[in-house]
Amino acid sequence: MSAFDDNCIFCKIIKGDIPSTKVYEDDLCYAFRDINPQAPTHILVVPKTHISSCNDVNESNEAVVGHIYSAIARIAEQEGISKTGYRIITNCGKDAGQTVFHLHFHILAGKPMGEGMLP
Ligand code: AMP
Ligand code: ZN
Repeated sequence: MSAFDDNCIFCKIIKGDIPSTKVYEDDLCYAFRDINPQAPTHILVVPKTHISSCNDVNESNEAVVGHIYSAIARIAEQEGISKTGYRIITNCGKDAGQTVFHLHFHILAGKPMGEGMLP
């Protein structure tokens, strides 16, 4: 059984079937620039296996979430934003505005973002 969903745009990006600007990659995750950036630095980090949303994180796949946070620390260093700061956002479901149903972590940086919940 494939770890990918044939109808998922982020699975297609991971496979290279849809182009993306790669920022970081390892065995478990892939990071690329958001096509519609909401901040000077806007990166998406995705697990290399299809997980639809936070609702589908469970004991069988939870390790990848911790791994992604560790990858984010490395990406922040690489992007030169670790000292100035960044915001990590994951939208889950309709009310949160999730539009792509493959778990992803937005990294937003490069401008002050205030104290609210959104960039
Ligand atoms: P969300 O609203 O949390 O589901 O975020 C989905 C994000 O994916 C949005 O910020 C989009 O701009 C971004 N996005 C959609 N298609 C692509 C693509 N082909 N390459 C890069 N980013 C994309
Ligand atoms: Zn997917």
